[in-house]
Amino acid sequence: MLVKETPPKQTEFPVTRDYALQRLEEFLPAAGSQYARLRNFDRGNGQHVHVSRLSAALRRRVVCEAEVVAAVVARHGIVQAEKFISEIFWRTYWKGWLEQRPAVWTGYLDELDKAREQLEVDHDLSQMYENACAGLSEIDCFDAWVAELKDTGYLHNWARMQFASIWTFTLGLRWELGAAFMSSHLVDSDPASNTLSWRWVAGLHTKGKAYLADADRIRAMTNGRFSPTGLARRAVIPTDGIVVPPPSPLRDFRDPDPSQPAMILITIEDLSLEGLPALGEMDIKAISVLSAEYETDRLALNDALKRATNTWPRAAVLVSPEEEGLRAAKALGCSQIVTGFASVGPTAQRLDMLGQKAPGYGMQLAEHLRSWDQEAWPFCNKGFYALRQKIPCLINATGTMR
Ligand SMILES: Cc1cc2nc3c(=O)[nH]c(=O)nc-3n(C[C@H](O)[C@H](O)[C@H](O)COP(=O)(O)OP(=O)(O)OC[C@H]3O[C@@H](n4cnc5c(N)ncnc54)[C@H](O)[C@@H]3O)c2cc1C
Repeated sequence: MLVKETPPKQTEFPVTRDYALQRLEEFLPAAGSQYARLRNFDRGNGQHVHVSRLSAALRRRVVCEAEVVAAVVARHGIVQAEKFISEIFWRTYWKGWLEQRPAVWTGYLDELDKAREQLEVDHDLSQMYENACAGLSEIDCFDAWVAELKDTGYLHNWARMQFASIWTFTLGLRWELGAAFMSSHLVDSDPASNTLSWRWVAGLHTKGKAYLADADRIRAMTNGRFSPTGLARRAVIPTDGIVVPPPSPLRDFRDPDPSQPAMILITIEDLSLEGLPALGEMDIKAISVLSAEYETDRLALNDALKRATNTWPRAAVLVSPEEEGLRAAKALGCSQIVTGFASVGPTAQRLDMLGQKAPGYGMQLAEHLRSWDQEAWPFCNKGFYALRQKIPCLINATGTMR
């Protein structure tokens, strides 16, 4: 069922493991001081050679943070590769921060609904929004970035910052609409990195500190490709519709029990479970995949399924963790469904429902939280600086941070 006759094509942004490892290998020489010097230049569609373009793979853990950082440190050392490593830890930071404040995600979804309702009754606003989404804002860089985003599913980090800033402060559109628009096109779409980066640009993460796009800087960083006019000179920080709660402990979840036979469930939250020593020794009787709507996700899931079946060749491949699959898993003797920890977002919601259903089939849902997250997330409940200070210690544990 999973393997389509014509598999979706690989793009410049790897989502299969061999391709991601090949990209990592090719990018390694550029991950040290060269990255620090050149990473912020936006060279345009198809030219982003100064950054790794590994985000689609990292987001799904086709390759995981620990192995990427280990490879970069082995090549350059921590000091030379400090910038690249910090960027990887930004991802960890956003995930850890949101995990400890899941209400910010649900608050965002509520505010997004309200913003969409507002579009239905405000014709001018709606027109402005439609123009922005169609790349008809008449701001040269913004319109080109809309086209690139739609064409490739990717924007350079620096371009994403300008994009979010222009959307919010120049076009005066609600940040929630922009976050949803960008996310719907991104090949690396991630609830934490996307939502919280938009909030950061809008001045809602570090209270009162917004990011204002500047025309001269855009000209310089795009090597003169763009010369935008009419950009906002002042960032009027929007009212925050979300009540940000203090950090709370991680939600309850069950660890895998190594003594119990299991069905492995592959989701887009962690596509390299087969490499985890903690699962390697387990009695895996079945493998299943949590279906995905998007082609890129399906390509990544197919690749992960192939690797899992190579690792656990005796395990039966079950259609899906729905009624039929759960019955079959139970019949094979599984007493637990083991999957990667799902961070705040749609997959976690689906797993929550599965976790409630599983006992009806004589099984429990268990989630493996990688030690990378376990070690780093306690330092993600304030600003990034608190985590940044811990990076050398966390990296020294890289060998075991899986
Ligand atoms: C408004 C906005 C929205 C964003 N939405 C997403 C998103 O949905 N998914 C996503 O993965 N990233 C998001 N980012 C972060 C960042 O833009 C991308 O991770 C980065 O552009 C990916 O390109 P790369 O792999 O070439 O990065 P590189 O520069 O090669 O960095 C290596 C890795 O570090 C991580 N990383 C780098 N910069 C950041 C950052 N600022 N925040 C978090 N992680 C980072 C990524 O995993 C990336 O693959 C967003 C940033 C902004 C400003």
